[in-house]
Amino acid sequence: MTKNYDIHTGDQLKQMFPYQFSHPHVMCEFYRGWMPIVAGLCMELDMLLESLGNQRKQFQWRKMKEKLGSARLYFTLGDQKITVLDFHYPEGTLSHLMLPKQPTDLFGQIHAFVQAAQEETKTTCMVCGGVAKTKNYGGYLQTLCEAHNPDVIGQEMVRVLRQPRSPKGEASS
Ligand SMILES: [Zn+2]
Repeated sequence: MTKNYDIHTGDQLKQMFPYQFSHPHVMCEFYRGWMPIVAGLCMELDMLLESLGNQRKQFQWRKMKEKLGSARLYFTLGDQKITVLDFHYPEGTLSHLMLPKQPTDLFGQIHAFVQAAQEETKTTCMVCGGVAKTKNYGGYLQTLCEAHNPDVIGQEMVRVLRQPRSPKGEASS
Protein backbone atom coordinates (compact mmCIF):
# COMPACT_ATOMS: atom_id res chain seq x y z
CA MET A 1 0.00 0.00 0.00
CA THR A 2 1.42 3.36 -1.04
CA LYS A 3 2.00 5.93 1.67
CA ASN A 4 2.32 9.63 1.08
CA TYR A 5 4.48 11.64 3.46
CA ASP A 6 4.21 14.98 1.65
CA ILE A 7 0.69 15.82 2.76
CA HIS A 8 0.33 16.86 6.39
CA THR A 9 -2.91 18.77 6.78
CA GLY A 10 -6.52 18.37 5.81
CA ASP A 11 -6.29 21.55 3.74
CA GLN A 12 -3.42 20.12 1.71
CA LEU A 13 -5.39 16.95 1.14
CA LYS A 14 -8.42 18.89 -0.06
CA GLN A 15 -6.25 21.03 -2.33
CA MET A 16 -4.67 17.98 -3.94
CA PHE A 17 -7.93 16.10 -4.51
CA PRO A 18 -10.74 18.66 -4.33
CA TYR A 19 -13.33 16.46 -6.05
CA GLN A 20 -12.86 13.69 -3.47
CA PHE A 21 -13.96 16.04 -0.70
CA SER A 22 -16.65 17.92 -2.61
CA HIS A 23 -19.68 16.29 -1.03
CA PRO A 24 -21.58 18.94 0.95
CA HIS A 25 -21.81 16.66 3.99
CA VAL A 26 -18.32 15.18 3.90
CA MET A 27 -16.99 14.66 7.40
CA CYS A 28 -13.41 13.55 7.78
CA GLU A 29 -11.54 13.36 11.02
CA PHE A 30 -8.80 10.93 11.78
CA TYR A 31 -5.54 10.80 13.65
CA ARG A 32 -2.37 12.45 12.48
CA GLY A 33 -0.46 9.18 12.49
CA TRP A 34 -2.78 7.83 9.81
CA MET A 35 -2.29 10.72 7.39
CA PRO A 36 0.36 8.97 5.24
CA ILE A 37 -2.04 6.04 4.77
CA VAL A 38 -5.06 8.19 3.96
CA ALA A 39 -3.09 10.54 1.68
CA GLY A 40 -1.54 7.55 -0.11
CA LEU A 41 -4.98 6.06 -0.59
CA CYS A 42 -6.40 9.29 -2.03
CA MET A 43 -3.46 9.39 -4.43
CA GLU A 44 -3.89 5.78 -5.54
CA LEU A 45 -7.60 6.23 -6.08
CA ASP A 46 -6.93 9.40 -8.06
CA MET A 47 -4.58 7.52 -10.38
CA LEU A 48 -7.04 4.65 -10.75
CA LEU A 49 -9.97 6.93 -11.56
CA GLU A 50 -7.92 8.94 -14.02
CA SER A 51 -6.54 5.84 -15.75
CA LEU A 52 -10.08 4.75 -16.61
CA GLY A 53 -10.81 7.84 -18.67
CA ASN A 54 -11.48 10.31 -15.91
CA GLN A 55 -14.02 8.70 -13.64
CA ARG A 56 -13.11 11.26 -10.96
CA LYS A 57 -16.45 13.00 -10.88
CA GLN A 58 -18.12 9.78 -9.71
CA PHE A 59 -16.08 9.42 -6.54
CA GLN A 60 -16.59 11.22 -3.25
CA TRP A 61 -15.60 10.57 0.31
CA ARG A 62 -18.56 10.71 2.66
CA LYS A 63 -16.98 10.05 6.01
CA MET A 64 -13.63 9.24 7.53
CA LYS A 65 -13.48 8.48 11.20
CA GLU A 66 -11.93 6.34 13.88
CA LYS A 67 -13.90 3.42 15.23
CA LEU A 68 -12.74 0.68 17.56
CA GLY A 69 -9.14 1.80 17.14
CA SER A 70 -8.92 1.82 13.37
CA ALA A 71 -10.02 4.02 10.49
CA ARG A 72 -13.38 3.72 8.81
CA LEU A 73 -13.45 5.25 5.37
CA TYR A 74 -16.77 5.59 3.58
CA PHE A 75 -17.18 6.63 -0.02
CA THR A 76 -19.72 6.77 -2.78
CA LEU A 77 -19.13 5.94 -6.42
CA GLY A 78 -21.98 7.23 -8.51
CA ASP A 79 -24.99 5.84 -6.64
CA GLN A 80 -23.08 2.92 -5.09
CA LYS A 81 -21.88 2.82 -1.52
CA ILE A 82 -21.12 0.50 1.39
CA THR A 83 -23.08 0.28 4.58
CA VAL A 84 -21.43 -1.08 7.73
CA LEU A 85 -23.40 -2.56 10.59
CA ASP A 86 -21.62 -3.13 13.91
CA PHE A 87 -22.87 -5.84 16.19
CA HIS A 88 -21.56 -5.53 19.73
CA TYR A 89 -21.03 -8.64 21.82
CA PRO A 90 -19.34 -9.10 25.19
CA GLU A 91 -16.45 -10.78 23.36
CA GLY A 92 -16.04 -7.94 20.93
CA THR A 93 -17.60 -6.32 17.91
CA LEU A 94 -18.47 -7.93 14.64
CA SER A 95 -18.72 -5.61 11.67
CA HIS A 96 -20.89 -6.60 8.78
CA LEU A 97 -20.29 -4.97 5.42
CA MET A 98 -23.19 -4.55 3.04
CA LEU A 99 -22.02 -4.08 -0.52
CA PRO A 100 -24.18 -2.69 -3.31
CA LYS A 101 -26.30 -5.40 -4.93
CA GLN A 102 -24.41 -5.29 -8.19
CA PRO A 103 -21.13 -3.54 -7.56
CA THR A 104 -19.28 -2.38 -10.65
CA ASP A 105 -15.72 -3.56 -11.25
CA LEU A 106 -14.47 -0.10 -10.38
CA PHE A 107 -16.40 -0.14 -7.12
CA GLY A 108 -14.76 -3.47 -6.26
CA GLN A 109 -11.31 -2.11 -7.04
CA ILE A 110 -11.82 0.98 -4.91
CA HIS A 111 -13.29 -1.09 -2.10
CA ALA A 112 -10.18 -3.29 -2.10
CA PHE A 113 -7.89 -0.25 -1.83
CA VAL A 114 -9.99 1.19 0.99
CA GLN A 115 -10.06 -2.11 2.87
CA ALA A 116 -6.27 -2.40 2.64
CA ALA A 117 -5.86 1.12 4.05
CA GLN A 118 -8.29 0.42 6.89
CA GLU A 119 -6.41 -2.78 7.73
CA GLU A 120 -3.16 -0.87 7.83
CA THR A 121 -4.48 1.59 10.41
CA LYS A 122 -5.00 -1.38 12.76
CA THR A 123 -1.22 -1.62 13.16
CA THR A 124 -0.31 2.06 12.82
CA CYS A 125 0.04 4.39 15.81
CA MET A 126 -2.64 7.06 15.80
CA VAL A 127 -0.17 9.67 17.01
CA CYS A 128 3.12 9.03 15.20
CA GLY A 129 2.43 6.44 12.49
CA GLY A 130 4.82 3.94 14.09
CA VAL A 131 4.21 0.23 14.48
CA ALA A 132 1.40 -0.32 16.95
CA LYS A 133 -1.23 -2.66 18.30
CA THR A 134 -4.85 -2.00 19.11
CA LYS A 135 -5.44 -2.33 22.84
CA ASN A 136 -8.24 -1.72 25.23
CA TYR A 137 -7.56 1.31 27.41
CA GLY A 138 -10.27 1.51 30.01
CA GLY A 139 -12.98 0.50 27.59
CA TYR A 140 -11.64 2.39 24.58
CA LEU A 141 -9.84 0.61 21.80
CA GLN A 142 -6.86 2.61 20.63
CA THR A 143 -3.96 1.82 18.38
CA LEU A 144 -0.78 3.19 19.89
CA CYS A 145 2.92 2.42 19.78
CA GLU A 146 4.92 1.91 22.97
CA ALA A 147 5.95 5.56 23.11
CA HIS A 148 2.38 6.78 23.10
CA ASN A 149 -0.09 6.00 25.79
CA PRO A 150 -3.72 7.06 26.11
CA ASP A 151 -2.82 9.90 28.48
CA VAL A 152 -0.76 11.40 25.71
CA ILE A 153 -3.34 10.89 23.02
CA GLY A 154 -5.77 12.89 25.13
CA GLN A 155 -3.66 15.96 24.35
CA GLU A 156 -2.32 14.99 20.98
CA MET A 157 -5.45 13.67 19.41
CA VAL A 158 -5.48 15.52 16.14
CA ARG A 159 -8.35 15.52 13.77
CA VAL A 160 -7.17 16.83 10.50
CA LEU A 161 -10.18 17.47 8.38
CA ARG A 162 -13.46 18.63 9.63
CA GLN A 163 -16.24 20.19 7.70
CA PRO A 164 -19.27 20.26 9.94
CA ARG A 165 -22.69 20.17 8.44
CA SER A 166 -23.81 23.68 7.68
CA PRO A 167 -27.43 24.66 8.15
CA LYS A 168 -29.60 24.54 5.07
CA GLY A 169 -29.15 27.47 2.76
CA GLU A 170 -25.80 28.47 4.17
CA ALA A 171 -22.94 28.20 1.72
CA SER A 172 -20.18 25.94 2.96
CA SER A 173 -16.67 27.19 2.46
ZN1 LIG B 1 3.33 6.45 18.40
